[in-house]
Amino acid sequence: MNQTPTLRDRIKRRIELSGPMSVAEYMHVCMSDPAQGYYTSTDPIGRRGDFVTAPEISQLFGEMIGLWAVGAWEAMGKPDSFALVEAGPGNGTLIGDILRTVRHFPQFMQAASIHLLEASPRMIERQRERTRGHDVTWHANLAELPPVPLILMANEFLDVLAFRQYVRSGGHWHEHCIGLDGGGELAFMLGAATLDPAFLPTGWEREPDGSVFEYAPAREAWVQDLSHHLCEHGGLALLIDYGQLQSGFGDTFQAVENHKPVSPLGEPGRADLTSHVDFSALERAAREAGNARVASAAQGDFLLAMGLLERAGALGATADAGLRDELSLAVERLAGPQQMGNLFKVMAISGSTLQPGSPPLPPFTASHLTR
Ligand code: SAH
Repeated sequence: MNQTPTLRDRIKRRIELSGPMSVAEYMHVCMSDPAQGYYTSTDPIGRRGDFVTAPEISQLFGEMIGLWAVGAWEAMGKPDSFALVEAGPGNGTLIGDILRTVRHFPQFMQAASIHLLEASPRMIERQRERTRGHDVTWHANLAELPPVPLILMANEFLDVLAFRQYVRSGGHWHEHCIGLDGGGELAFMLGAATLDPAFLPTGWEREPDGSVFEYAPAREAWVQDLSHHLCEHGGLALLIDYGQLQSGFGDTFQAVENHKPVSPLGEPGRADLTSHVDFSALERAAREAGNARVASAAQGDFLLAMGLLERAGALGATADAGLRDELSLAVERLAGPQQMGNLFKVMAISGSTLQPGSPPLPPFTASHLTR
């Protein structure tokens, strides 16, 4: 019988031929394999998928991001031509809600061309449905964007880009790899490559054997490219993801299938693989490119500053009791400190000279600015 090999079989074969894979290589293959990768062959997002994202919880999220985009455009001095961009739009729910919100600002709409960055043809089809009636251009990467000012948003996009892990062992930080155990099954092991301690956060000398450090050059490179574009052509970007504002140690490699945590090595291509985003590393990467300004805050603080409560109140005023309950539940999930409010962070990057009198990076206050 001539069965198509599974992604697991193909990964094992590759390890047999060329040795253990880094976590980054493994993640890249699992997420993006053209035939059997996670984003190329499954329907990951939403109640019936594997995980629910903020825009899927409530329209309130996209409305706040839409208002942020209009504020960004005003702070930039209302350029008469700019690219409104979303990176990794998933089901297209966020861009759909943003477009519904910004159509109340006709001058903004007239100046905007809409661009979506998406790697998976399957996801593009979903996004096409959600943006029907709008003129949208899809791109595979940042380099394809036109040389104009950007207003770019990305929610839970950076965490899907591959990351590396290093494990302290015998005085060195060895790359964490995926190889084959004695029974020929996928297993974590230490690779020969080691990380230069110059890349580690301060205090690494005190970390015990077995301590894990995560490093994501692909995420940093992406933010650097974005920051270059913003400094050269102008614009603002808003990057939202779960993670921490300070670099640290710890294993955050996680796999989720059907809303439950599973083993990252369990079923390659069937589970969502991610790790926490290190925002302080990304802030550094953004600042290295030209004279970008950067600010970060917890998602809860950001949404409250954008008027989340006022908007929920306005919608609730004309709603029945059931819908009012739904709205307060959504506010709690999006902004509550025990839910997404603290775990998720929002980072803004500006490459534009902003209008006099506008906040340093709207709606961030001076205390959020790291430059
Ligand atoms: N932003 C969405 C979902 C994020 S899931 C939401 O908030 O619901 C990640 C998205 O990024 C998916 O659409 C996935 O197909 C896309 N993606 C993954 N890797 C990518 C890459 N390298 N370039 C562009 N898009 C990518």
